[in-house]
Amino acid sequence: MSTETLMALAQGLAGGGIKVVDLSTTLQPSTPTLQLPKEFGWGVSWPFHIEEISRYDERGPAWYWNNFKCGEHTGTHFDAPIHWVSGQNFEEHATDTLPAERFIAPACVMNAAAESAANPDFLISVDFIKTWEAQHGEIEAGSWLLYRTDWSKKTSNEAYLNMAEDGAHTPGWEPEAVTFLTTERDVCGIGVETVGTDGGQAAGQEPMFPCHNLLHGANKCGLAGLCNLDLLPPKGAVIIAPPLKIKEGSGSPTRVLALVAS
Ligand code: MN
Repeated sequence: MSTETLMALAQGLAGGGIKVVDLSTTLQPSTPTLQLPKEFGWGVSWPFHIEEISRYDERGPAWYWNNFKCGEHTGTHFDAPIHWVSGQNFEEHATDTLPAERFIAPACVMNAAAESAANPDFLISVDFIKTWEAQHGEIEAGSWLLYRTDWSKKTSNEAYLNMAEDGAHTPGWEPEAVTFLTTERDVCGIGVETVGTDGGQAAGQEPMFPCHNLLHGANKCGLAGLCNLDLLPPKGAVIIAPPLKIKEGSGSPTRVLALVAS
């Protein structure tokens, strides 16, 4: 890339026709976290917890700061390939070792908001992807595939997680669609608005949690808990999504930004 191109980007960002769209939700104690089926005795991801150390007071007269803790997969967050058993043997597959180039990539945004509203268990199929491509052109290799459901617009955690007796009901993937994206299209990764990249009923799919299994098994990354996907064009946005550099991290809360022509 030439310096001129880079400076043109900087000028674009400084009021020259490129706007920044924040795709992240605010991390707070009420941030919803993934709830796995309890009957298996699986571990629990800590919700976000924050504790004030001082705020210009006797505990620290001139400074304000907090301690916080949470699971790596909390709120708007990044999933590294090492997150899944199928991705455990790659090299450079954790938050600290993934090449930084993989954190900046263009996006294709697939709108399944109407389908998800009509059916919370909606699953993206290969046909759905091909129909989108017939309208917008083929998904370029190295792009993020962002799955718009408008799920981030739910106004309560209850509606967002949509738990029932038989588990959560949120949109997901047919396994073949994930394989199509990783093999036929070689995407950078997959991003969703829901609490995890898989659908709510994915524990019962074959393979179990197909998006995680097949995405990370192809050494690809995930983004979950995104918002504002409705502000992005079907093609043409550039996503900036670097996770925290946690040693051997499986993911981390992430500030995800999109650059969009305005
Ligand atoms: Mn995750």
